[in-house]
Amino acid sequence: MTINVAVIGAGPSGFYTVDALLKHETDVRVDIIERLPTPFGLIRGGVAPDHQTTKKVARVYEKTALSDGVGYFGNVEVGRDVTIAELQDIYDAIVLAVGAPRDRKLGIPGENKTGVFGSADFVGWYNGHPDFTDLKPKLNTETVVVIGQGNVAVDVARVLVKTPEEMTETDIADHAADAIDASPITDIHMIGRRGPIEAKFTNVELREMGKLADCQPVINAAQLPDEVTGDWSDRDKRLKDRNLATMKEFLDISPEDKSKRVHFSFYAKPVEILGGDAVEGIRMENTKVEAGRSVGTGEFFEIECGLVIPAIGYFSDPFPGVPFDADNGIVIHDEGRVGDGIYAVGWIKRGPTGVIGTNKPDGDIAATQIFEDITGGAKPGREALEALLEERSVPRLSFQDWLRIDEAEVAAAKPGAPRRKFVTIDTMIGALN
Ligand code: NAP
Repeated sequence: MTINVAVIGAGPSGFYTVDALLKHETDVRVDIIERLPTPFGLIRGGVAPDHQTTKKVARVYEKTALSDGVGYFGNVEVGRDVTIAELQDIYDAIVLAVGAPRDRKLGIPGENKTGVFGSADFVGWYNGHPDFTDLKPKLNTETVVVIGQGNVAVDVARVLVKTPEEMTETDIADHAADAIDASPITDIHMIGRRGPIEAKFTNVELREMGKLADCQPVINAAQLPDEVTGDWSDRDKRLKDRNLATMKEFLDISPEDKSKRVHFSFYAKPVEILGGDAVEGIRMENTKVEAGRSVGTGEFFEIECGLVIPAIGYFSDPFPGVPFDADNGIVIHDEGRVGDGIYAVGWIKRGPTGVIGTNKPDGDIAATQIFEDITGGAKPGREALEALLEERSVPRLSFQDWLRIDEAEVAAAKPGAPRRKFVTIDTMIGALN
């Protein structure tokens, strides 16, 4: 008997799971259920708009979506349009691949002031994610503070300082391109609570910051050690050696006639966001690193700024009907098995770490578990979900519908750009009429 599987979430971890399920010799039908009209999760809404090469992986996912046995239910939200209990009656197995869409909080006074935007929201805004189209951050400030030194912090800083010419061949949302071009931003402080060796960004992303048309990286030489010390794996040591070498090269970049700067600052943690209703500055405490942890020194300083972007990692939402580990922001699971025919993959299973490809083994593990646990399909699958959504008048989109939206976006692209994104659900669905 065919095994019917629902994969909730059309991002990388979802597609790698579908792919792994299809590779198995067991007869399987897989339906992808996606909350948005558009697929691809972080590839579309998270990967920086100027990293188009990374986004090309969507073509591989497209092939998976068009494979025999795969169904697609776009614009269908589990919890709103159908419950997990209903899906359990319809499918033999359900895979949660819904990612970690929320911002981790700093937990300091002033965090709710106007002008503080977590990186998940901010990245969603410049990537045209419909949830964040109305974010409308005011960029009328010369100085921005980005908290954190991961790749997301680097993405945010880079997108804010690139010239319009550098952004020509990108799919940045029009509203964000216009706001950034019109903004007077000249200085971005990217601040890490630990040192340059502990910084989380990877070397390709760091090096990009030394090659920008109108922005130069600034580092205080006194904060750079002579060499990498500490107890690192060989792989980590190599990355840290490369990062340190790149940061030292940044010291040698002569102050050219560039109008913007990204300051890489280390050993400081935020303690308060200052201002009235709106951000006027940030109070930081100097730190030192003890046994790998950042420890405050009791000395403080302030930076005047009009925008603070904490890029300190992501968090999953509790998924309706599924046990949730609120401390770690992931579902409760045993190596991916959540129980009652439910499995988890990607960031809702592991937390928000790793690159796109890190999700691939998750898909393989989930497929293996499903075929170990379920030997014969007993549930009705796709037609039952179609009937339920029909009965509820849920306007669901097929993958062919997405391809038409895709075509319309590509056709509307400005010269050089890959596409011009629709940034609201209404305009996405409207493109089909
Ligand atoms: P990340 O790599 O975990 O970096 C988070 C940063 O925030 C770290 O510097 C961390 O410092 C800091 N931080 C955390 N809590 C803090 C606090 N309370 N106060 C001050 N600083 C704090 O996370 P991410 O940048 O969001 O990236 C998520 C994943 O996506 C990563 O695996 C990343 O490599 C990946 N990604 C990859 C790319 C790419 O390949 N181009 C692009 C974007 C994202 P500590 O180290 O001290 O904790």
